[in-house]
Amino acid sequence: MPPFRPFLLLLCLLPARAHALAPADLPACHARTCIALDLWLPADFADPSWLESQLTVANERLAVIGAGVQVALVHTLPPELRQIDTVAQRNQLGHLGQQTPLRWFVVAHLADAADPAAVRKGVTWRNGAAVWVIGSQTGMRWVLAHELGHVLGLPHSTEAASLMNKKPRIWPPPWQIGFAAREQPVMKRTLARMLRTHALQTVPVE
Ligand SMILES: [Zn+2]
Repeated sequence: MPPFRPFLLLLCLLPARAHALAPADLPACHARTCIALDLWLPADFADPSWLESQLTVANERLAVIGAGVQVALVHTLPPELRQIDTVAQRNQLGHLGQQTPLRWFVVAHLADAADPAAVRKGVTWRNGAAVWVIGSQTGMRWVLAHELGHVLGLPHSTEAASLMNKKPRIWPPPWQIGFAAREQPVMKRTLARMLRTHALQTVPVE
């Protein structure tokens, strides 16, 4: 039998620290199905307009499947995880909070898992059945939407008009890039399954 560790138990019971930014400060979702997000930010994060653009693009693009996202909770990241350089740190993020709502970790710096010298803008990270999104606060405004595509079962794509295509391209223009017709049924099926199995939660309707 493992020794009783009151200190560790106490740590687990401590509530996560709320952030100065509140969910009400961020865009609301008006879709039929609003996926709830548990947002984690560095303590010194002070760029709500960056969050707003990420959420707005995600909501615009997810509208084709009748879905959207809304931040339900905002937490402060522990200082040692404000910069993610290693696979171990990506996994440590998974110990914060609960598996649902879907966790969106915004970090000051996100290194490539295979090449620590390379920088990543976002990643959908899975560990067992759990999944969470890590975004670098230097990421372009469509990064959250792209990662939500992965959460909803999409791989990368070679279609020019797909948001899941990572290749730099001049055509089509960014506002014409979204989830392609052939991607949408996969997303709908995955969303339905994840809601059914409680891997995702929706924002309660007021
Ligand atoms: Zn990707």
